[in-house]
Amino acid sequence: MTEIVEKLYNTGNLSDGELKLLIETDSECVSSLIVKYADETRRKYYGRKVFLRGLIEISSYCRNDCFYCGIRRSNRNAERYRLSRAEILSCCENGYELGFRTFVMQGGEDFCFTDDFMCSLISETKQKYPDCAVTLSLGERSYESYRRMKEAGADRYLLRHETASDELYRKLHPKEMSLANRKECLFNLRKLGYQVGSGFMVGVPFQTTENIIEDLRFLQELRPHMIGIGPFVPHHETPFAEEKGGTLELTLKILGILRLMFPKALIPATTALGTISPNGRELGLKTGCNVVMPNLSPVSVRKKYDLYDNKICTGEESAECRICLEKRIVSAGYEISSERGDAL
Ligand code: SAH
Repeated sequence: MTEIVEKLYNTGNLSDGELKLLIETDSECVSSLIVKYADETRRKYYGRKVFLRGLIEISSYCRNDCFYCGIRRSNRNAERYRLSRAEILSCCENGYELGFRTFVMQGGEDFCFTDDFMCSLISETKQKYPDCAVTLSLGERSYESYRRMKEAGADRYLLRHETASDELYRKLHPKEMSLANRKECLFNLRKLGYQVGSGFMVGVPFQTTENIIEDLRFLQELRPHMIGIGPFVPHHETPFAEEKGGTLELTLKILGILRLMFPKALIPATTALGTISPNGRELGLKTGCNVVMPNLSPVSVRKKYDLYDNKICTGEESAECRICLEKRIVSAGYEISSERGDAL
């Protein structure tokens, strides 16, 4: 089995059959070899650098109804909030002082964030902080909307494909949503010149090894600049409340495989990974991750951006969050980069 890992390290690709063997084995020896090579690969391209992204969770209103997500519209008990323009700009100001050079504006699919609103917010942010990148993560929007926001100055867009299997996509989403549309959004974003991020959840209900392989193949086709994956974590007020979550071991293994298949990608050690294990993000960094996304949202709304249960980092101020992550990065043997951190 270790020769399959060698092959992945040397060629950056494997057959479906080989991927299946790697994903399904519980050999510790295979996992540690993946970690070793993933770390070597990230060091070759990025050294010990870890890029920071300040995450601003701008709204918990959402028109969608994804079965796994705590802020789905059917969750009547979700507390909804929407940050004002002034609040978002003040998060950026705070973030800039803390050294962030990327602001990620993420939210549910909220009708109130019209193109006009977003464009004016983006251009003001870029005007005030010309040395910063603005990343958006606002779900599926029209080509025209993506075009206008790009023109207003947005640099990057995060939109996980969630799963590249039509069949699984339908088990995770209501009828009115479609994988075809999500994929089209991703290709539109790329065409418009955004640096694009995609990804999926590990261990989501009904997911098979074959589904994960389909995700890897889709990513090979899309060739995104950023790849975000994290374990599925159940939320108590969703249809998947009683389902099992994704495991640390499998998520780490997939992270390592991703680093070997996409040596230059920007790959975050996600909050979900830190939620299922106290040192999950450190382990992620040691398995090829090179991005962390500290929370910059006002503390008053943090608990309301409630995608899954027990989400970490909802209690502390942005400055504390930043200090805590810096400690974790250094303890894992890496260093914070003060650059914008564009893809190579
Ligand atoms: N509305 C935006 C942002 C979604 S939140 C969009 O559609 O892209 C960001 C990511 O959180 C989602 O893409 C999803 O992969 C992840 N997520 C949602 N619910 C989750 C859960 N229960 N466990 C783990 N990750 C979850």
